[in-house]
Amino acid sequence: MANHDPFFSRRLLDLDYIYLSYCVYETIKMTHQLYNTLPTLSEASEAFTNRGELLPRLAQLFAAPEYRKYAFGLVHHHYDLLLGEWMVTTDRISAPELISSPPDPSIVVDRWTAQSEPFEYARVSPGDQALPPPPEGLLKSFEEIVGKENKYLGMFTAPNLGLGKMYCEAIVDDAKRKQVLNVVDMAGGKEPCLSIDAAWVSDGGIVAVAQVCVNCRRADHM
Ligand SMILES: [Zn+2]
Repeated sequence: MANHDPFFSRRLLDLDYIYLSYCVYETIKMTHQLYNTLPTLSEASEAFTNRGELLPRLAQLFAAPEYRKYAFGLVHHHYDLLLGEWMVTTDRISAPELISSPPDPSIVVDRWTAQSEPFEYARVSPGDQALPPPPEGLLKSFEEIVGKENKYLGMFTAPNLGLGKMYCEAIVDDAKRKQVLNVVDMAGGKEPCLSIDAAWVSDGGIVAVAQVCVNCRRADHM
């Protein structure tokens, strides 16, 4: 019978292996279709209803010295991607890039979902080290706080801007799907029009906003 044939069994193993490799590959790289189903900034912000309870607990978790290089924030997207594109930030400008295979090694993961799926990238300067994926202990504690079903909170590379500074993400060119991360004073108040808190860091166990995104599409407010 065919299923007792060693050659046939071997073929099945090969196919399993190929399928498994394919699955592993797919889990390390979010497809553009999946990226496009990520919530918008407003959707993610509105879904984060229990922030009064969660933010202090997350600030405690991310205060651990080994997790200080990570921020936590809203998993969201501003622009849809096309086949083969990733959203990459280079010199504080984020825009879609068509990724070659193998990808440019200077492009590293910048944002992960709570399930540790990479969804946005950044280009590091020569000599700069990529931040490793969130360690197991962080993922486990994060899930305990935000819940297994959470889809709106993930982990970002913490901005390294110094005291009292944060990122304010704003549109550069809608047609090119391009945004900029401006460095602004935390104490300087919000942008003149609507901005939404998008990421936080732990400042010695106290929650601090790390990034806001401008959520206004009026040309005179960009
Ligand atoms: Zn944003």
